[in-house]
Amino acid sequence: MKTPSPPARSGIDQEQFLRILSREEAIAAFREALQPRPLGMEAVALAALVGRVLAEDVAAPVDTPPFDRSVVDGFAVRAADLAVASGSAPVRLVLNGEVIACGTPPELTVAPGTATPISTGGPMPRGADAVVMIEHTEAADEDAILVSRALAPGQNVAFAGSDIARGQTVLHKGMVIGSREIAMLAAIGLAEATVWRKPRVAVLSTGDELVQPGEPLRPAAVYDSNGPIVAAALEENGCVALRLGAIPDDETRLTAAITDAFATADAVILSGGTSKGAGDLTHRIVGRLGAPGIVAHGVALKPGKPLCLAVCDGKPVIVLPGFPTSAMFTFHDIVAPFLRLLAGLPEREEHELSGRVPVAVASELGRAEFVMVALSESDAGLVAHPVGKGSGAVTAFSQADGFVRIDALADTLPAGSEVPVRLFTPHLRVPDLVVMGSHCVGLDAVIGHLAETGLSARVLAIGSLGGLAALRRGECDIAPIHLLDPHSDTYNTPFLTPAMRLIVGWKRLQGVVFRRGDARFEGKSPHDAVTAALADPDCIMVNRNQGAGTRTLIDTLLAGKRPAGYWNQPRSHNAVAASVAQNRADWGVAIKPVADDNGLGFLPLTAEHYDFAVSSTPRRPAILAAFEAALTESGEALRRIGFEKS
Ligand code: AMP
Ligand code: MG
Repeated sequence: MKTPSPPARSGIDQEQFLRILSREEAIAAFREALQPRPLGMEAVALAALVGRVLAEDVAAPVDTPPFDRSVVDGFAVRAADLAVASGSAPVRLVLNGEVIACGTPPELTVAPGTATPISTGGPMPRGADAVVMIEHTEAADEDAILVSRALAPGQNVAFAGSDIARGQTVLHKGMVIGSREIAMLAAIGLAEATVWRKPRVAVLSTGDELVQPGEPLRPAAVYDSNGPIVAAALEENGCVALRLGAIPDDETRLTAAITDAFATADAVILSGGTSKGAGDLTHRIVGRLGAPGIVAHGVALKPGKPLCLAVCDGKPVIVLPGFPTSAMFTFHDIVAPFLRLLAGLPEREEHELSGRVPVAVASELGRAEFVMVALSESDAGLVAHPVGKGSGAVTAFSQADGFVRIDALADTLPAGSEVPVRLFTPHLRVPDLVVMGSHCVGLDAVIGHLAETGLSARVLAIGSLGGLAALRRGECDIAPIHLLDPHSDTYNTPFLTPAMRLIVGWKRLQGVVFRRGDARFEGKSPHDAVTAALADPDCIMVNRNQGAGTRTLIDTLLAGKRPAGYWNQPRSHNAVAASVAQNRADWGVAIKPVADDNGLGFLPLTAEHYDFAVSSTPRRPAILAAFEAALTESGEALRRIGFEKS
């Protein structure tokens, strides 16, 4: 018995007291309310059947083959005539006056002592019980042959129904139709099959900030990635996606759009607006659509906590979290299995490998956590590098091969743990070359050249120091670095261990970036400009992450001071430039090509050396040699971007 809950004082109160369910509780509650089963059957023509799921067993309406037929080119005979035939004592058979081709019904009977020429696939004539291959005969005269082999009755004959007998079940309910199943259906003469109807699922994104891909981006807006992601994932899981675009956070418009979608589709998937902040209306509208309504709002998943699951008058209505990575994980982990049941599809086949996590991964206690990983090969087996953790970045998907699930009861995954990695696609292609360290647009040009030679590379931007550490542990082939040693005033070489060598890369002009026309910077030397900036309490800087080569440069400039903005530490030159260009900060340090791209002013500080640390005894020297060749060939492209070969 449940204790009756106290009467809600207001709608808002009620929402705030919604309970967070465990992943398993949420799945059980959704299953109980939905009772998922296929939605109905339909007949579909042969040409449109690939990927569909059979809703009924298929029995053959005819025999295959439909008649006894020859499986070789030769002569239809009576086997008894050839019982004593041999090379030394060939038997003479008189030819009948017809030739049986494919598709011609025979007219003459094969009498004892006679033979009828027959093609592969030709129907057997009356009287004959075997076919002698043409290779085992020779012409005796105009109308007779000599046979030099004995033959068993039935030899070289395929009997009617020997392949498929009429009435036999050839395909079973629940099978997913591919080309082999199509072959079967065609062979028994069926022009269509009865399959489960595909669930029609409405996909709606919500948020004032969303712009459809292809449209220009307004300030403070982002592209709607959830809509296309969910629609594609629906199609991968046997559903038809009704792409309804994005709706602003406006109660009237949202209510209208959701109500319409609910009326026309078998299921509705929304994204965004699930957290309990202002403007997050979606779940309230969903709660009013029908009974029993919301069965889970808040699931102990990371990412994915704000997931909302509802069943309204028998239809599933799901609100995925707004962050694209969260939306994708919750879709695949929780939603897809239910949709597959509605589509009549079998459980998804999961593909798993085992990999070693090179660094400790902290995890929140009490929530099942998904961490995307990129796989690379090392001497000690596969290494699973965490990528894009907690960033909500959809691009992490393009770097990741799969993900690791950290149990709700674990607060960390220790460095060196061997863990199961669930792959995003069944076919893992480990890259030929793993590059870990500092990222540079110039590197993309070199990797592009390398790709033309058929070699693939994966680049993980983890900063210069991170790259060196990974190289020491044997987890990458190349560590691009730009580290200044203040004592010797030299780049990179002082940071190598005796087991490493340097492939010389290029020089990048780094400098102070600012908005053009800012009098605190315009026309000054970088040091004077930074002095002016530090003297102005309204001036805000943007820093770089610890471990970045650029950070060392900034630390030198600041000489121990920590002005406003110091703790804003993005991980790339582009982020620094965006911050300044969009007026969130007034200055930072970035490379010149990025400053130019963003229309920013630039005060050159130093030419920084961007080089490649590699092992002196690499695992695959040939691939490193190919990289060096690609580097040489990229000289012109690098100059065009604004880099100078060292
Ligand atoms: P919400 O759940 O609406 O509070 O959104 C959480 C975050 O996800 C915000 O940064 C949104 O801008 C972002 N977001 C929501 N929907 C989408 C979408 N369809 N595509 C990309 N980002 C989204
Ligand atoms: Mg929103």
